[in-house]
Amino acid sequence: MRYLIGVDIGGTNIKLALVDKKARLRGRKTFSTTSFEGKSDLIDGIVSQIKALVSGAGLSKNNIIGVGIGAPGAVDIRTGTVHYLTNIPDWREVPLGNILKKRLGLPVFVDNDVNVMALGEVYFGAGIGAVNMLCITLGTGVGGGLILDGKLYRGSSYAAGEFGHVPINISGPKCKCGSWACVEAYAGNNYIVKDVIADIRKGAKTLITKLVKGDLSKITPEIISEADRKGDRFAKKVWTDVGNKVGIGLAGVVNLLNVEKIVIGGGVAEAGKILFDSIKKTINARAMKLPAKTVRIVKAKLGYDAGLIGAATLVLYELGKENVTKN
Ligand SMILES: [Zn+2]
Repeated sequence: MRYLIGVDIGGTNIKLALVDKKARLRGRKTFSTTSFEGKSDLIDGIVSQIKALVSGAGLSKNNIIGVGIGAPGAVDIRTGTVHYLTNIPDWREVPLGNILKKRLGLPVFVDNDVNVMALGEVYFGAGIGAVNMLCITLGTGVGGGLILDGKLYRGSSYAAGEFGHVPINISGPKCKCGSWACVEAYAGNNYIVKDVIADIRKGAKTLITKLVKGDLSKITPEIISEADRKGDRFAKKVWTDVGNKVGIGLAGVVNLLNVEKIVIGGGVAEAGKILFDSIKKTINARAMKLPAKTVRIVKAKLGYDAGLIGAATLVLYELGKENVTKN
């Protein structure tokens, strides 16, 4: 039996897993990104953790088809160059893919974390069978990965799919990308919470205040959802408004690309039906009739392990199915 290795590099944690060709996890490790002094220390860590994962499962290098890595930001997939990593001070333009390929003697593929999630969902999750699809994540950041004509669409400099930075207004809140009024500047975790706090300070009456016992710094999307479930009208309006903003951005995507499916994951997607209903309603109101009727809006299926499964799926995608089934 041969396996894949998935590596999910996040801002705070790096997760690794041994994954079989049906996307079942056979072993995993998680370590903190901040436990490393710099880039070479981190690369050594990834190499030794991969080796430990393989030997720990009683396997050898010959049992491994390849290593797939999801990393934040744009990734130059030709060399596997990850341009920037938060929390690793000397990480600039590191050809992680090429380095690991040499060190491990295995095929290594690196891509953007939401691109690999899109692959994971289309191979094993909510996107099975989709030929044209957008996968978005709603969390601290708002990301996107595009599958067009059955292929991952990466764009001219591997920076495509940045749904979070689609501007949806002439003026609006500043975004961390340097622009303003981007989808993320309305629908990113921190922005949602900041707006809620501002409204409460302006006198909005909501159960949220009670749930955090008056400590507004404790407000999270989960707390807003809890208030919503308890029937709080303010909380309902928060999710309806967020859904409306995301829906406006998606209406543009629907008109531009005529995708058949939009898969939505990430922590904010846990707000559930109220958010999804609002997104659907806005798309129906704002996109053109035919593409709006075609598109289905669904929740991501791979959940907590989406990044790991997606990273492993990148190996299957890059090596091609025929090649893989021979093993
Ligand atoms: Zn932006």
